[in-house]
Amino acid sequence: DVLAHLSDTGLLRTQCYVGGQWIDASDGATLEVLDPSTGRSIARVPRCGANETRAAIAGAVAQFEPWAARPAKERSALLRRWYDAVVGARDDITRLMTLESGKPLAESRGEFDNGVASIEWFAEEAKRTCGDVLESPDRHRRFMVLKQPVGVVGAITPWNFPFSMITRKVSPALAAGCTVVLKPSELTPLTALALAELAERAGLPGGVLSVLTGDAPAIGDAMLKSEEVRKIGFTGSTAVGKQLAAGAAGTVKRVSLELGGNAPFIVFEDADLEKAATAVVASSHRNSGQTCICTNRVLVHERVHDAFVATLTAKVSALRLGSGLEQGVTQGPLISAAAVDRLEEKVADALSKGAVVAVGGQRPKWDAGHSLAGGFFYEPTVLTGARPDMRMFREELFGPVTPVYSFSSDDEAVQLANDTQYGLACYFYTKDLSRAWRVAERLQYGMVGINEVAITSEVAPFGGVKQSGLGREQSKYGLAEFQDIKTVCLGLY
Ligand code: ADP
Repeated sequence: DVLAHLSDTGLLRTQCYVGGQWIDASDGATLEVLDPSTGRSIARVPRCGANETRAAIAGAVAQFEPWAARPAKERSALLRRWYDAVVGARDDITRLMTLESGKPLAESRGEFDNGVASIEWFAEEAKRTCGDVLESPDRHRRFMVLKQPVGVVGAITPWNFPFSMITRKVSPALAAGCTVVLKPSELTPLTALALAELAERAGLPGGVLSVLTGDAPAIGDAMLKSEEVRKIGFTGSTAVGKQLAAGAAGTVKRVSLELGGNAPFIVFEDADLEKAATAVVASSHRNSGQTCICTNRVLVHERVHDAFVATLTAKVSALRLGSGLEQGVTQGPLISAAAVDRLEEKVADALSKGAVVAVGGQRPKWDAGHSLAGGFFYEPTVLTGARPDMRMFREELFGPVTPVYSFSSDDEAVQLANDTQYGLACYFYTKDLSRAWRVAERLQYGMVGINEVAITSEVAPFGGVKQSGLGREQSKYGLAEFQDIKTVCLGLY
């Protein structure tokens, strides 16, 4: 079934890549991979646990010194070869991404282009690491700062970006001279295993990058307990991120955490309503609302509220739900049946507290015989009359629902926007330059989009404040997260 979609069938790997070997779980256990648009199984992959993880860590430890000792130019060249191999496989990889995550092909291509840019950028950046020579306060000593790889890295990635969450961790880690054990989401392992296959073909030494699928807590625990894993790079829920941070304390590992968000999108009264509505749809309904930077709360000035809602509702009504493989489909399914159930509960809570459905608000009614009848779909939805006492004001929706709140002053908008434990991305639309600067400074978020929602780039730091995470990915700051600073003091005599 999956093979019929691939021109290079060797990219469908259903074993794990550990220390340069393709392996099954030692007890032969497997996990099922589902196509969320049909609910049907498309593949099985190994259900690895602690033993296989220890083997992967041992491989990464064995390769660490030789990999770190290679001139950065050589690491850069190998990363570039991986990049070339991955770029050559764009059509197959994007189809794998759509098959296992459900996102429309156009979104898979967007994620691919964004994600592959990280490999290219960090391949280049690998060569540009510089330390410092410091002016000494006295005659007898000189100080230098070296930047060295932190060591073996455990990377744990989610299903909503099966490709780019991997490249943005693995590329800077390898560029810095670290070796990596990667655990992708059990819901989207095929893309990750294809990346491992391409790394092998590109000539990356076995053990420099291992990819393990399986029992998340068992694999995570083995990473946390290892004294040799020196850093955990994680993207996922705040709940799991807290567990990992607590577990990492036992061996004082570094952690980079990209966790949940609760992005506000403020539409000020002077905003271009047409552009703002287009941006809300793009941000709120991207990947059917399943990204940590998706707009979760639209805050609209009361003076423009009704006009804005009319424009927004028309645009959301025009979205097309279906299989991500089908031409013209803009919205895929959610990742799982449980995700649809959770979304429904939050919508029911809002409706019980006075919200009103402007469009959507239910599961699509496919005919019983329809090929998508078993899929995990929910209609693109706009709710008006949303208020802070509703669950969706505080909790991530992670689905295609856009709640509209109303405000009457800049202060109120900023206060509502900041009234959350999260602090990842936020957005606002205005034409007033002073307001733009003032509001950007006051928003307690790691990333602010002003008249723009496409805020992700390999050159720009990505990450949150408050309970949205620690550390930054992408950019020179993302590379620094994989480097330790060593002070060398030279005595002169
Ligand atoms: P999401 O809600 O996006 O699925 P999760 O935090 O559950 O977020 O999952 C993100 C990643 O974390 C996935 O790869 C998942 O397998 C992994 N994960 C979940 N629980 C644990 C755990 N206890 N230890 C390590 N990794 C975990």
